[in-house]
Parts: sequence; C-alpha cells; structure tokens
Amino acid sequence: MEYHEFSCGCKFPIIGYFPDGKPRIDLNPTVKNIPVNCQRTWDMLGRGDTFGVFQLESNQCAGFSKKLKPSTLGHLAALVSIIRPGVIECIEDGKNMTNHYIDRKNGLEPVKYFHPALENSLKNTYGIAIYQENVLQISRDIAGFSLQEADLLRKCLTGDTLVKTKNGKITINELKIGDEILTLDNKYTKVINKFDNGIQEVVELEVEYIAQKFSGGYLDIAKKTTNIKCTLNHKFLCQNNELYTVSDMINGGLFSFNIQCNSPSPNGKIISITLLGKERVYDIEVDHPDHIYYANDLATHNSIGKKNTELMAKCKTMFAEGCKKKNIVSEDEAIQIFDWVEKAQRYQFNAAHGFCYAANAYISAYLKCHFPRIFYTSYLYYAKDQQKPHEEIRKLVKDAKLTGVEILGPSLLHLYQHFTLFGKDIRFGFADIKGIGENAYRKLSSVLKQYTKTTGKNLENIGWNEFLIYISQKIGSGTNMILFQSGAMSYLGLTRTRLCFEYELFNRLTDLEQLYIAKEMTNQSISNKKLGDIIKILIDHDIPNVRRKAIVEGIIQMANNPPYNMEDSPEWIARTETNLFGVSLTCSGLENKAEDATHTCIDYLNGPCQCSIALSLDEVKEHITKSGKNKGKKMAFMTASDLTGKLECVIFPEEYAQFEPYIFAGNNILALGMSSRDNSSFIIKNVKQI
Ligand SMILES: [Zn+2]
Repeated sequence: MEYHEFSCGCKFPIIGYFPDGKPRIDLNPTVKNIPVNCQRTWDMLGRGDTFGVFQLESNQCAGFSKKLKPSTLGHLAALVSIIRPGVIECIEDGKNMTNHYIDRKNGLEPVKYFHPALENSLKNTYGIAIYQENVLQISRDIAGFSLQEADLLRKCLTGDTLVKTKNGKITINELKIGDEILTLDNKYTKVINKFDNGIQEVVELEVEYIAQKFSGGYLDIAKKTTNIKCTLNHKFLCQNNELYTVSDMINGGLFSFNIQCNSPSPNGKIISITLLGKERVYDIEVDHPDHIYYANDLATHNSIGKKNTELMAKCKTMFAEGCKKKNIVSEDEAIQIFDWVEKAQRYQFNAAHGFCYAANAYISAYLKCHFPRIFYTSYLYYAKDQQKPHEEIRKLVKDAKLTGVEILGPSLLHLYQHFTLFGKDIRFGFADIKGIGENAYRKLSSVLKQYTKTTGKNLENIGWNEFLIYISQKIGSGTNMILFQSGAMSYLGLTRTRLCFEYELFNRLTDLEQLYIAKEMTNQSISNKKLGDIIKILIDHDIPNVRRKAIVEGIIQMANNPPYNMEDSPEWIARTETNLFGVSLTCSGLENKAEDATHTCIDYLNGPCQCSIALSLDEVKEHITKSGKNKGKKMAFMTASDLTGKLECVIFPEEYAQFEPYIFAGNNILALGMSSRDNSSFIIKNVKQI
C-alpha cells in the first residue's frame, strides 16, 4: 500500500490518482483513523482559524480558540464548554469564567482552589468546576459519596428545566398555554396544552444522522449527532413502521433501531441511550407536526424534569454528614464547599458532551487542515441550504482563499448544478448563482444538451457567433446576461462587456431578421466573422423595408464602432460577481484602489501600528453600547480582508455615527486606524469610500 504523508507526519493510504497526478486519498474521517496529536491541526485552532469547525464557527469562538490555544482534546472539550452564554455571562472577581479558565490555562492567572481539598478533583480544569463530573469527584473525595449518591447530587444540581420562548428563557413551571416555544426547526411554535405527568423515568438518546450528504464522491463529514430527551415509555416510529418505546429499544438491542421522525432528519440511528433517572415530567403539546422543542438546550421529546428542592436539602445533609465522617474538611468548610458547588452549577456542562463535541470539532478542524478542498467543497455545496446562502458562500470563499484554496467561477464547459470538486479545482455551480436557480439551470442544461446532440458538436467547439445566433435565443435573456457577466463564457476569449453588448445588439433585430440570419448562415462559416458583417447580410439581401433599413444600418454601425469601451474593468467584474455569487471570485475590487493605503492586512498583522488599509468588509455586526459615555449608541464589529489576510475591526460610536453609510458587508473602504491595546482588533478612526 502506498501512503501520502503530510508535512505534519500524518499518513493516509493512496487509492488512486487524479488526472493531474495528485493522489486520491482513502479518507474515512473517524476518531479512530485520525491522529489527535497532529500539531498542524492544533496550530490552526490556536490561530483562531476555526471557520467551519464544528461548534467553533463564530467569530467569538474563533477569538476564544486563539486565546486559549488548545493542544489536547481536554482543552478543546473545556473550550466548547466555556464558550456557552452561561459561562461567558458568569462573572467572578470582575472576570467571566471563560477568561478565568483561559488565563489559568495560559499561566496568566494563578491556579487557585476554593479549598485545598478540591485539588484532586479540579486539577485538570485549573481549579474551576467546569463539568458536572468535577462535582461528582468532589463529593466522592471529601464526602465519601458512592457513585449512586454522587449521581443523585448531580441530578438535583441540574436545576429547573429552562425552555426557550419568544420572551427569553423561562422555567417549565412558568410555561403557559399560548406561549411560543422554540421547536426543532428553529421556529417559535404555540403551546396548545401542558399536562403534568408526575414523576417518571427519563432517558437521553444520542442519535446519529446525516445532515449533509456529499454527492461528489468521497466525503461525508456531516455525520452529526443530536441528543434527545424523553421518557422511557415514549414511542418512536422505527424503520419497519412500527412503534417502539425506548424500553423496547433497550430490550431489543438499540443498534437495530433506526428512528424515523420528521426532525432532525429522516433517518437517525440511536447510538446510545442514557438513563437519567426519575424526574417530574410534563407533556407539552405544540402546534407542530413533530413535537420536539428545546429544553435546557437539548432537543426534547414530550417531557422534561424540574428541580427537586426536597432532594436538594437531602443531598446537602448527606454531604455534610459524609464530610464529617471523612474528616478532611471542617463542618463549616463542608457547607461552604457545598454552596460553592451549587453556585458553580450555573455554568457547568456535562463532560461527556464536552468531549463528544471536542472530538467532532477536532475531526472537522483536522479535515480543514489536511483536506481543505474537500472540506470547502462540502461546505459550499450545502451553503444552498443555509438561511442566507450567498452570505455563507461569501464567507467560505474568503476563508478558502486565505488558506490557499481557489474557487473557480462557473464555466459553460463544466455545467455543474452545484459546487463540485473536480480534480484539484472547486467549481461554482450554476444553480448557486443569484438569478439562475434550479429551474433555469435545468432549462439551460437541456438546451445545450439538445444542441450538441443534434449538431454532434462539443461545447468547446461552438464559437460565440454560433452561440449567439442558434443557442442564446432558446434561453431566457436573464440567464444569458448572467452567463456573460459571470465569466461562464470567458473561455471564448471575448470580454464579458463585449458578450453583453453584442447580445443586446443582436436582440434589437426583429424575430424575422434573426431567423433570416440563422437560416442563411447555416452552411456558411461564421466563426471568424464580426457581428457587424453577419448582420450586414440583411442589407446585402435587401431584407429590411425602408424604415427598418435605417435601424439595421444603425445597429451595424454600432457593432463596428461600439459606443463605449469593450474592456472589463476589475471594479466592474468585482461588482457584478459580488451581485451574482455573493463574492467576487476573480477580482477583489481593491485592485488599483490601494494606492492611498500604507499597509496590507498581512503588513499590519506582522506589526500592528497606526496605518491605513484598503479593506473589503466581509461581516458587519452592529452593537449597542451598554455603558460608558456613549451608552445606548450604535457601534460596529467587523471582519474585513484584503488578498493578504483577514482582520477583526471595530468602529466606536463617535466614528460610527459619522461613517455608518460606508459600513456594510460587501463594501470596500480605505480605513485609517490603529491597533487596540491587546492587539486583538483594528480600531477604525476614519473611512474613505473606494
Ligand atoms: Zn497532520
């Protein structure tokens, strides 16, 4: 077996070669065949290069990843656990728990323990009880709890179930009929009924499903898992169309069941079932075909529990008594520790979840690092399913460019419906162009197929005149213009401006005149003729009447002497491509515009200082300031880039008020600014439109 070895030392079996000689690698990305010690992958995460990485996609998460510099799955599990809102909002000693963890991990803050006796259970998390499992260990260490007793403590610490409603999170107890609750399709749905079903056994199902299927061939990075909470006797429609309860599944061997429910996907496979013990259960009826909603951020299927205060009091007594027996901490200290632990519950996460997320995050990061083309093709392919496909495409293309992966524009010679990896190229799909879509793509594809079939020609042998006269008339004018403007026909060697110009000119002829040309030209070589000479045949054969003759002569005159420049300016290409693709693939729009800039992104990143940079704004987030002299005023955070790199930028209220009209995603500006104190962002002081 031949192997391909990456610079980091990772090796993969080669199963063949692409036409260009690049090895085709046997890629089966599971935890088993991906090494977790790949330094290149950890370095990438440490650079905050996490776009598209499971759980770490957002700019905020990228920032935390950059600060934390994870180098083990343990760090990564902690990272996904501490970047949840509960932890970010939880402030102790003037700093949120997220930053406490990061600073302690990086040695910028001493590792302290609430009590020295907690060192054993908290040393892996730098003294912070990030996980519920930390608490279990504490109770075993200092109160001598058995596993069952520890689990009882975990259960009563887990707090009241919170559900998401339009008006924010409320406890299940407060939920009323008529409230709107967040359901699995991310919509708010009315609660029709709520029943108290008493104390019942509750389980958590881990379900694996394919959210994305990459039809291009050899990748399926999108095996996802979701967790569903329900009662032990909840029924699911399984693949053989019979209803089974969860306890049936446990008894019948859980791997043989494929759940079929509307969401999250048609075919989920249960991979594990965890018994959560007894909880007070409610049935919530929602106005929705499936009845899954979010509770404690977990997709929940008919039931959820509620905190049990009696149990809590019992646990506290047990804990105090246990500590007394073990005699490691004093009675007072035991109570203090219990209260501390109870408080920590606000931000705790389940370590088992944390590590599963971390494994998935690592796998996607690993793929991004080693197989970027496959990674980006897959993400681009599924951009169409996102809420704002072109925004997603723009972000992916920019990110891909920065990692050295080029995305090629659409080409009529490669008529792909969606983004496709072909050899080493990623090609834009026609149905992903704004204004084309699935139907226009199918129409275009069938017209071309029919034409090549009847003429026996290949598309690459069909010249511009032939296309204009015989093919363009069978396609809608909107689609034609998009083909010319998008560069899909640039292989003809004519500028996009000229294609548009000649098409418009040709369509000033009447249907009969066009038909005459089409007929007359059939047996004649038109490949090297100028458009004016082709139209001239109408005059030569005396076809138009007197009135039309003047018009046709005018058209010929225009064709021979275009009234404007037939060159494509980079600015025009950038603008039209941005309109069609969501991003410009061939020009940045910053060409010839950067004269006044003193720095490029990479110059700046190598030595932050006061300077001006020509930037393309990729993402803009408005923010209302919550404190300070500008309280309540608007400011903005931005991600911006040029061809050399990417910058996080910020513009504060005073400047934002002045330059707001220029600050929008997709715009190009010349920004004068300076680095923030911690070098984390570029503070924009002045803006010029370019
Ligand atoms: Zn590697």
